[in-house]
Amino acid sequence: MTRTVAILGAGPVGLAAAAHVLERGMRPLILEQGAEVGHSVRAWGHVPMFSNWRSSIRAAAARRLEHARWQAPDPEAYPTGAELVEDYLQPLGQTLAPWLRFERHIVAVSREGIDKVNNAGHGTTPFMIDTEGATGEARNGADAVTDATGTWFQPNPGGAGRPVPGELGHLRFGYGMPDVTGQEQARRGGKRVAVLGGGHSAMGTLIALSNLSGTSPIWLCRASTTTRARGGGAADRLAARGVLGTGMARSVDGGGIRLEKRVSSCRRLRDHPADGRIGWRGHRGG
Ligand SMILES: Cc1cc2nc3c(=O)[nH]c(=O)nc-3n(C[C@H](O)[C@H](O)[C@H](O)COP(=O)(O)OP(=O)(O)OC[C@H]3O[C@@H](n4cnc5c(N)ncnc54)[C@H](O)[C@@H]3O)c2cc1C
Repeated sequence: MTRTVAILGAGPVGLAAAAHVLERGMRPLILEQGAEVGHSVRAWGHVPMFSNWRSSIRAAAARRLEHARWQAPDPEAYPTGAELVEDYLQPLGQTLAPWLRFERHIVAVSREGIDKVNNAGHGTTPFMIDTEGATGEARNGADAVTDATGTWFQPNPGGAGRPVPGELGHLRFGYGMPDVTGQEQARRGGKRVAVLGGGHSAMGTLIALSNLSGTSPIWLCRASTTTRARGGGAADRLAARGVLGTGMARSVDGGGIRLEKRVSSCRRLRDHPADGRIGWRGHRGG
């Protein structure tokens, strides 16, 4: 009997996993909350990637695409998120159409008929994946599960593992990597903008903000040193990522970005109606 592997999420990892599953003679069932493949990547389509095409395309996916007369991009070129979707994820998704289910938001993964306190037969009982979506609730059975839901929809909140009071739903507090030199420019240009985080999204956003005239970016860094965030610089194994770290170091050292280290947790987000500012109250780690 053909085994079914449920793949949670139709991003780059989920779609590549489906290509591997098919090559091994099994059946993928790709459950995606969005209406199209690459739902997360589309949200940062404006960002140039630090991985070139060679590192971004999985071999099993390329083999499927070659059957579909796909024109492979230049392996040494660096796509934006939008190009990754258009030139790779979309055509790959078309080859996987019979196994793709859109607008299925996964709410639970369990073993069929097994409750929280019963372990008997746990390892051999099929999985059950509960979804909600435009067509209502559904239960999807599978022999195995691959979680490829990524992290984009699970951002690291401002508090110690949870949002601080006032954070959720605040109109001037956002997550991810906003297009600050494009459609978000009017909201952030000419202002003091704080960015909390030490990853590449935070660095890319800070560098973009520092290039906006009249904007003062502040880097709220949880770590006590910025060495890790700055990456390997000129020696980084991914050259474009090294350039990001080097650019960040230059902006901080030159005063274009104000750095606040050891921001270990924040306690409250407050509005100051008199001057329209947001107050970010917290404390420093040791
Ligand atoms: C700005 C930016 C730049 C980046 N640049 C690079 C780079 O250059 N190189 C690199 O290797 N990585 C880069 N990354 C990391 C990048 O996100 C991953 O490499 C890649 O997107 C991971 O793919 P994924 O399929 O695991 O996750 P995602 O792309 O996040 O896809 C997850 C999918 O799961 C779906 N999903 C999530 N939750 C549910 C749910 N409950 N129910 C149903 N579906 C769900 C989402 O809608 C989405 O379609 C970058 C990330 C960002 C934010």
